[in-house]
Amino acid sequence: MAMKQFQAESKRLLDLMINSIYTHKEIFLREIISNASDAIDKLAYLSLTEDNGMSRDDFAIHLSVDKEHRVLTISDNGIGMTEEDMENNLGTIAKSGSLAFKEEMKKAEKPDEAVDIIGQFGVGFYSAFMVADNVTVISKKYGTDQAYMWQSQGADGYEIIPCERDTCGTDVILKLKDNTEDEDYDRYLSQYTLQNLVKKYSDYIRYPIRMEMTSSRPVEQEDENGEKKTTYEEFTEEKTLNSMVPIWQKNKDEVTEEEYDQYYQDKFGDYEKPTTRISVSVEGNITYKALLYVPSRAPYDFYSKEYKKGLQLYSNGVMIMENCEDLLPDYFCFVKGIVDSPDLSLNISREMLQHDRQLKRIASNLEKKIKSELSKLLTNDREKYEKFFEVFGVQMKYGVVSDYGAHKDVVKDLLLFWSQKNEKYVTLAEYVAEMPEEQKYIYYAAGESRVKLGQLPQTELVRDKGYDILFLTDDVDEFIMNTLMNYQEKEFKSVSAEDLGLETDEEKQEKEQETKENQGLLDFVKEALGEKLKEVRLSNKLRSHPVCLVPDSGLSFEMEKYLNRVAPNEKLKTGRIMELNADHPAFAALKNAFENDQEKAKKYAELLYCQALLIADLPLEDPSAYTDLVCSLMQ
Ligand code: ADP
Ligand code: MG
Repeated sequence: MAMKQFQAESKRLLDLMINSIYTHKEIFLREIISNASDAIDKLAYLSLTEDNGMSRDDFAIHLSVDKEHRVLTISDNGIGMTEEDMENNLGTIAKSGSLAFKEEMKKAEKPDEAVDIIGQFGVGFYSAFMVADNVTVISKKYGTDQAYMWQSQGADGYEIIPCERDTCGTDVILKLKDNTEDEDYDRYLSQYTLQNLVKKYSDYIRYPIRMEMTSSRPVEQEDENGEKKTTYEEFTEEKTLNSMVPIWQKNKDEVTEEEYDQYYQDKFGDYEKPTTRISVSVEGNITYKALLYVPSRAPYDFYSKEYKKGLQLYSNGVMIMENCEDLLPDYFCFVKGIVDSPDLSLNISREMLQHDRQLKRIASNLEKKIKSELSKLLTNDREKYEKFFEVFGVQMKYGVVSDYGAHKDVVKDLLLFWSQKNEKYVTLAEYVAEMPEEQKYIYYAAGESRVKLGQLPQTELVRDKGYDILFLTDDVDEFIMNTLMNYQEKEFKSVSAEDLGLETDEEKQEKEQETKENQGLLDFVKEALGEKLKEVRLSNKLRSHPVCLVPDSGLSFEMEKYLNRVAPNEKLKTGRIMELNADHPAFAALKNAFENDQEKAKKYAELLYCQALLIADLPLEDPSAYTDLVCSLMQ
């Protein structure tokens, strides 16, 4: 049988493991045991629907030690592997937990960076090579007759040959490395070390992890003089090393924060600690426990279609669904965790679950719970919340607009927007609390960046009044304002709106008068620019700028840009209104030209229009015509 080569990436990982200077080599045991547990899960799951004579009590993981030959064996009676499974699963590193590791490996160019990653991830099967120089896997797949043996001494490759095994399941046989000056591999042959490692890393595994343990017990004997004497005799018995209580079933005071974090990191393959943990325990009409986490960073596939929201669903500690989507609303899709309820039946089908009333109730309770925990974080640890919001805030924002705003009240208080005045993120409640009494509206400006918004002419008047403006830079932001319409009875108002509600009646009359006086000029400018504009009018919101462009409807330029990106065929275009500042010297120049040199006045009108486009961050229709125009005015 020819030696087969590992896939290139696997080889790199293997090299790393073999030459690892990583100090926590002991995690190999956790990895092998967790694979055994996964394999039993798979068979146990099949046994729910198929009558195969297996019952939950039959499942177990066995550790055994051969001190003389320095061999540690981890056996399970799970689903097992075929030859092909071995080829695919042990010869390549593309499996779930290891995939994230692979992504990180790509980034880490230096070997010592990569070593660091080992500790952060569940690195899976290959971690066996940190402690063993010869790894043998004997496995028989459930429902097949032939067992196979996979064997490898490291990076050179591996062999697979047929062999014998009585029942289905897998043995992972590790021939430990020789001790070195720095590393004592013999310790993995010690029953106490193994017992401690199981307690430390695998206590919550739901199947018994058993091992023959030798202890001594006192025996009373009478010696020849008839005197009683205590001697000790050795005996062996099989012990279960783990408590098998899943972490979410334990009392909160039995579990440390580190253990909760570690559980999250192992289970969900994240190398960062979670932002926050949410433990839920409900008894009553419906009974369930949930252990939820808000990650600190977006999973690597979060923005791809492959990302599936959902929680793992258990019934009395038995997993019944890997990923139950119905338990999480889209706007909390970043939450990870498990739900365990004895009220859910074990062999319920996916379709039935969707309509399950119990499940709906759990989902709606969890939604409330997640919301209240996030609110707590917002009040108690603002810095942490802002970091969280930077990562997942957009997701919650979409929650406002989705389903025609049906969920807006759930999320609106969790949103943050940039405050122009305070130069930091504020909630809508904070904005409203800060409003002076006479301020009628919640003002906002939408654009690509905060810097550009800071330069937007139409913000001038609002700012002059001392009112705050929310700077909206996410595509979805303006849609949020349109969906919410108001907050605590204060309407939202774009700074581009014609009437900002800032003028007194007197000022309004004054403006009307001024408009009347300049009607001829305004008509002329409109005429000169033709179809490009819907209207030309005098502005009430400009201070130092001569001109600005505003949309003629609720559809702003930012929304127009967004919609044209997502639906380019619609060719949406919102009407443009040009507003002129009658108090600006440029207006005086325009007026003068209109009265004395209409050719020049036309050019001025064109020039002002182009400036308005530029400052609104809209493209010039014809940049070279624009430069020609400027040059012609310089002559
Ligand atoms: P992961 O557990 O993240 O999938 P591993 O490297 O730990 O990655 O394991 C690779 C794959 O090898 C597993 O997904 C599984 O298909 C297979 N495997 C490992 N150990 C066992 C086992 N004891 N029984 C059955 N399959 C196993
Ligand atoms: Mg694994």
